[in-house]
Amino acid sequence: NNHNLFAALRAAFPTDLDAIAVETDDELCYSWRDLDRATAMMANLLASLDLPAGARVAVQVEKSVEAMMLYLATLRAGYVFLPLNTAYQSAEIEYFIGNAEPAVVVCSPKNFGWVSKIAFQAGTRNVFTLGDDRTGSLLDRAAVHSDVHEPAAKAADDLAAILYTSGTTGRSKGAMLTHGNMLSNAQVLKDYWGWQPGDVLVHALPIFHVHGLFVAIHGALLNGSKMLWFGKFDPRGAIAAMRRATVFMGVPTLYVRMLAEPSLTREAVGSMRLFVAGSAPLLPETFNAWRERTGHTILERYGMSETVMLTSNPYRPEQGERRAGTVGFPLPGVGLRIVGDDGRELPQGEIGGIQVRGPNVFKGYWRMPEKTQEEFTADGWFKTGDVGLVDERGYARIVGRSKDLIISGGYNVYPAEIEGYINELPGVAESALVGVPHPDFGEVGVAVVTARPGATVEPDAVIATLKSRLANFKIPKRCFVVDELPRNTMGKVQKNLLRDQHKGLFT
Ligand code: ATP
Ligand code: MG
Repeated sequence: NNHNLFAALRAAFPTDLDAIAVETDDELCYSWRDLDRATAMMANLLASLDLPAGARVAVQVEKSVEAMMLYLATLRAGYVFLPLNTAYQSAEIEYFIGNAEPAVVVCSPKNFGWVSKIAFQAGTRNVFTLGDDRTGSLLDRAAVHSDVHEPAAKAADDLAAILYTSGTTGRSKGAMLTHGNMLSNAQVLKDYWGWQPGDVLVHALPIFHVHGLFVAIHGALLNGSKMLWFGKFDPRGAIAAMRRATVFMGVPTLYVRMLAEPSLTREAVGSMRLFVAGSAPLLPETFNAWRERTGHTILERYGMSETVMLTSNPYRPEQGERRAGTVGFPLPGVGLRIVGDDGRELPQGEIGGIQVRGPNVFKGYWRMPEKTQEEFTADGWFKTGDVGLVDERGYARIVGRSKDLIISGGYNVYPAEIEGYINELPGVAESALVGVPHPDFGEVGVAVVTARPGATVEPDAVIATLKSRLANFKIPKRCFVVDELPRNTMGKVQKNLLRDQHKGLFT
């Protein structure tokens, strides 16, 4: 039988194909039949191009329902989808296209000039355009193709997508995900998060990452659920849409921005069933503020490009409460262990590297066999690069990334711990602790802090207060108050930029 992920998603479409599958913020409605026909036409277009098996379809376009259809059509036709962040400019696109050697490139009409030049130079013969207003050559060309298409036969182990990681810790790596990786994960989440008939998802995330493209879209499609679709996140619009919805997924910054809206009330989200957060740590303060304001407890989960979802706070009360500052339990089928520097598994409660395994774990990094080998243990576990622990009740907690770990005078300093203390100080909005070179200690911590609106924070006072509470090796040697922490599009703090900025402080 066919393990094509599209076939499984298609099989979950409701019997009434004329029901609405997607409703957009500019008031367009797409039926399930529209999704079926349009993806068939695009799949037939791809099939007509005579592409080699395993061909990559690289896509850098503004978010649109047609862009989602292109993803589904690529699966359907049996090729490999490769989404690219819309923020990327020529140097980045040159790297990704050179690295991935896609057979097809789809870009925004406004970028056709420079993207096609890069693509042609890299040997790509098929360059199409797709605008967020249903314009462009992709749709023109697809329009002449049949709207019937049998999903390509795929094994569970066949590649479905290459997802470049967010590049938070360095250059992005292409994670190779299979049909089986994604379907198994989607099925687990459908059950774990209690997807039910009548669910409606507010989709407000970008669709070039795991969160918006896989977790959100697979979740809705596999449940035959309608999506209320936002081309760009707009806090007021999202809150208004929630009157007709039951599920929302967001990165923490989306929650922070909605909390700033007076229209966010208990009543406004009365029909909602589930709020999911992930991609970056959700501050306990946001978790608490959300609960107070809306009566809903955000469910935080943890995952990454290489593995899709790994852990989740419980959905059903009988499985336990949702605990702020934790990412919950390993999902069914996922193995998670905490490992020390010597590679040995650590006892419960101790901090170490997080390693995982399961049907959701990727095949390896695209064209990086050494890197792939480095990141898997001899017994087949994947080293996530995150550092954390499992608490006495079995909840996993992330304390930072191994690359962000600061080793000061031989002692490990876990940034999340210190940031937690700093964030509680009066007037502080948020903070980031980074390690910079130091002649005596090897490395020392530097704290970068933002103040709440209207508040002032004294850098020296931050350090003095920490000194009265924490061991000396944990105290940042310097503190800076800034307007904003640098973040990438997924809301992750870019500590590499902060490290670069401050690396010369002591040397
Ligand atoms: P790169 O690997 O290129 O440095 P990245 O790791 O940020 O970038 P992604 O795969 O998009 O790229 O993000 C996965 C990472 O996001 C995880 O390894 C983890 O560090 C972080 N993350 C995801 N969910 C959470 C969460 N709930 N809490 C804290 N961190 C999270
Ligand atoms: Mg990563």
